Amino acid sequence: MKSERTLVIIKPDGIQRALIGEVIKRYERTGLKLVAMKMTVATEDMIETHYSVDPNWKMVTGQKAIDAYRKKGMVPPSENPLELTAIILKKLRKYMSSGPVVAMVWQGMNAVGVVRKITGSTEPLTSDVGSIRGDLTIDSYQMADTDERAVRNLVHTSGSTDDAAKEIALWFKDGELINYKLVQEAILYDVNLDGILE
Ligand code: ADP
Ligand code: MG
Repeated sequence: MKSERTLVIIKPDGIQRALIGEVIKRYERTGLKLVAMKMTVATEDMIETHYSVDPNWKMVTGQKAIDAYRKKGMVPPSENPLELTAIILKKLRKYMSSGPVVAMVWQGMNAVGVVRKITGSTEPLTSDVGSIRGDLTIDSYQMADTDERAVRNLVHTSGSTDDAAKEIALWFKDGELINYKLVQEAILYDVNLDGILE
């Protein structure tokens, strides 16, 4: 579990909002270890492959959008989750390839869950206070729909360890992941704290 890994991408809006440092700081201070990082411009096809690694993503994401409409007393544009996701994916291809992104791999105990918690839920308007999406931006499903674009929520994070493994393999070559020790891992993971007092 100490070697669990997750993929984080600071999306084009995160770069344009000058939030690279702020976002990295929030993950770094948890104790997770940064083991790979690069700036790149993704192609639209790369983005489609990225969102296709999880076979359930299309169904879950479409349903999440439908539920969000209903919760606000609005009528969803379609009752079919897959129809909604097809539209979202088209918008995502454009959004995620519109400028540079920073891709990173974070490693440590429960890395996937810890990163999801700090990031917050998909829609910034309803993301928890204290989360990256809740604190640092203001977008909503409604605004994104009005402007016919993807929800701009600053960061992507893997949804499960399975997705993480597939996404990391897509964005990084083996040699780009660095194995190294951090001194703070002794405090985070060692059973005994013998040897601190002199
Ligand atoms: P998350 O990034 O929180 O894991 P999803 O995997 O469900 O969210 O969706 C991927 C990305 O697609 C979101 O981060 C967001 O940028 C965009 N998105 C999701 N749902 C919608 C929607 N209903 N309308 C517009 N964009 C959306
Ligand atoms: Mg997701």
